[in-house]
Amino acid sequence: AGAASLALTLSACGQSGAGGSKEDKGSAKGGTIGIAMPTKSSERWIADGKNVVKDLQAKGYKTKLVYGEDDPDQQVSQIENLITQGVKGLIIAAIDNKSLNNVLQQAADAKIPVISYDRLILGTKNVDYYASFDNEKVGKLQGSYIVQKLGLDSGKKGPFNIELFAGSNDDNNTKYFFNGAMSVLQPYIDKKQLVVKSKQTALNQVTTLRWDGATAQKRMEDILTSTYTSGKVDAVLSPYDGISIGIIAALKSDGYGSASKPLPVITGQDAELASVKSIIAGQQTQTVYKDIRKLAKVASTMIDDVLNGKKPEINDTKSYGNGVKTVPAYLLQPVSVDKTNYTKELVDTGYYTADQLK
Ligand code: BGC
Repeated sequence: AGAASLALTLSACGQSGAGGSKEDKGSAKGGTIGIAMPTKSSERWIADGKNVVKDLQAKGYKTKLVYGEDDPDQQVSQIENLITQGVKGLIIAAIDNKSLNNVLQQAADAKIPVISYDRLILGTKNVDYYASFDNEKVGKLQGSYIVQKLGLDSGKKGPFNIELFAGSNDDNNTKYFFNGAMSVLQPYIDKKQLVVKSKQTALNQVTTLRWDGATAQKRMEDILTSTYTSGKVDAVLSPYDGISIGIIAALKSDGYGSASKPLPVITGQDAELASVKSIIAGQQTQTVYKDIRKLAKVASTMIDDVLNGKKPEINDTKSYGNGVKTVPAYLLQPVSVDKTNYTKELVDTGYYTADQLK
């Protein structure tokens, strides 16, 4: 049944199986673009998928959107399927940045261009362009927010206790976020105005596999039990809203969140609905908003340009080496959001309606 339906799909697409001929180029317009996203467990990727589909359809393409449910092997076989089905181009947000080398060689052999979406794919020459945000800046915004909120940049000396969390170690963005944040925090740690009581400061001690909130919750619980028998946590560097939710749960079950034991300053990323509500309710303190509507536009314009023999617009040619080549990139700007500016950044821009945030 599998082979029969595959044959049907192929003939329906007008494909002979031999990609890359002159004819194929000419028919790219009505062709199908494959979009591989990492997971539906976070709102942002659901919205990313929808946005990219909408933008590509507006440009006259058909689309096939797949989600790998945070399983790298599943993502590899999904991309293999897309190639077999004769897609003209691929837009991929990788789950594990290093697991795609073989399948991208298959894409290259079939002359299918590849856009690395949000997360850079490593270790292969077969990635044409990178569409993302300034990821180091994301971390800097989180670090500076903590410094400002604690008053360290306006004369307060502390010492304040801080704990550090980072993203998944197989996501290339993780080190950019962490290093960006640490470039701001480290000088205060060196001056002992910020103290990491758990002593867990190296990236490999603080990562959170697959950005999992429950994993972060467990680690925060362990730190509270082992390290905070006295004293309290004043700030937590969290790289992502889903992780912040786990951290807040651990803190609350330890008695944080009352007048005598307020929640620490807690950062985040993605401006996901639950976390924006948490910010409005005074629990999470900050998030980094990245307008993924713009990211979808950049990525779909890139693939359209490549398929039409045009050079896509890029604004960065040096930051993103993938171990084999420096991938030309277009980087968008992230914005720090807290209670004071969420209306301006998220409601006035139409990212959320005021009703959604009630
Ligand atoms: C993205 C973040 C997101 C994280 C977890 C990263 O690669 O850049 O926006 O919070 O993955 O999904």
